[in-house]
Amino acid sequence: MKSKSSLKVGISGVRGIVGDSLSPQVAARFAAAFGTYAGRARIIVGRDARSSGPMLTEAVFSALLAAGCRPVDIGICPIPTILLYVKERRALGGVAVTASHNPGEWNGLKFISGRGLYLNPAETAEFLDIYHQGDFAFAGAEGIRTVEREDGAPHAHLRRLLRNLDVEAVRKRKLRVVADCAGGAGSVLMPALLEELGCRTVLIDAVPDGSCSRPSEPTPENLSELSRTVVKNRADIGFAQDADADRLALVDEKGRPMGEDMTLALAVRRVLGGKPGPVVVNLSASLAIDDIAREAGVPVFRTKIGETHVVEELLRRKAAIGGEGNGGVVWPAVHPCRDSFAAAGLILESLAASNRTASALRRTIPSYVLVKDKVEGTPDQAHRILARLKKRHGRREISTLDGLKIFFGRSWVHVRPSNTEPFIRITAEAKTKAAAERLVQSFKDDIRELS
Ligand code: MG
Repeated sequence: MKSKSSLKVGISGVRGIVGDSLSPQVAARFAAAFGTYAGRARIIVGRDARSSGPMLTEAVFSALLAAGCRPVDIGICPIPTILLYVKERRALGGVAVTASHNPGEWNGLKFISGRGLYLNPAETAEFLDIYHQGDFAFAGAEGIRTVEREDGAPHAHLRRLLRNLDVEAVRKRKLRVVADCAGGAGSVLMPALLEELGCRTVLIDAVPDGSCSRPSEPTPENLSELSRTVVKNRADIGFAQDADADRLALVDEKGRPMGEDMTLALAVRRVLGGKPGPVVVNLSASLAIDDIAREAGVPVFRTKIGETHVVEELLRRKAAIGGEGNGGVVWPAVHPCRDSFAAAGLILESLAASNRTASALRRTIPSYVLVKDKVEGTPDQAHRILARLKKRHGRREISTLDGLKIFFGRSWVHVRPSNTEPFIRITAEAKTKAAAERLVQSFKDDIRELS
């Protein structure tokens, strides 16, 4: 049996291995703390498609009922749908039973505020305080309500998407799309969205039963079936979601993965072309975003890695668009969260408006190459090395929001300790692969020398 230390408690939630660190008792305890934190009113509860979802969800309902809340079961839903629906239904909060892209034996709970956002660090601290004190609200037999069921959440999300997209323009192009939903929660909305947008659609793993023929993370090496299906069906584009449908990866009409950064770059350019406004991305997002924003005459603000940081800054800056380079597009017009459906809609709009193929569209985005590597190192070692690197490069433009990021004009290198493993991660971006590799190598040499 694996160690119980696999339970991970972080910003906005908890995840663990089901039957080991994550049991119904653990889920119920967190839900009881959340019910106490949120209050005795409507709490939206949704889940992704993994097989342990119903078991954990029942434990969540039980604890919320005991705390006097009114849990609303919205069933299997994409994570952006759950977030949006909390706000739409004016609930006090929400619980999502999901472990995002973690393997099938994992599951977790994510906690959502009444704003329809993941709990931020301050809210998380307050909630965890209640959890650790263990002094949970209890309604007593008289105050216990029942679980309500609502099945309208995906449709509410769909309505919001269609209101913000140029539906007629996309319909006219009658695009042929292959959508790979990873057997996940995306399956409950992607087919309907594509149909509303007049696409001719071929689906892969679009039954929300958790069974998926590829690893859930939509990274280029996991997209071979999507690539083959795009080519075979002469599709205009391929879409790949992750299991909770907050990220979207693209495959062009020739079956080539377009790179993790391309979804965000295309979506940003599409939104800025209509209604320019500030852009908020995390520290690792491609320099292509800066080039696109410069063209539109708007500023780019960068944040720490992590959706919560991006979304908080995006709301503060009243940004038009933002997100993360791993295919997580945040379009606040729909809802301020990473949303693979908003991303899909914007990409289809781009194809329709430009009348180009996906590969031609890709060539219009300034190209940079990202190279990632890592060296062994504990958080302590990483801390010392970062201090020395910072001294060595003190005259450069640097950011210490998250590890150390050093800008060299049209390239950068980012060195940071891994949050989960004893590694120091090194990422570099430059105009060519060779230049990015040289930059990574020179920092590996520096780290070795400074260790
Ligand atoms: Mg995800």
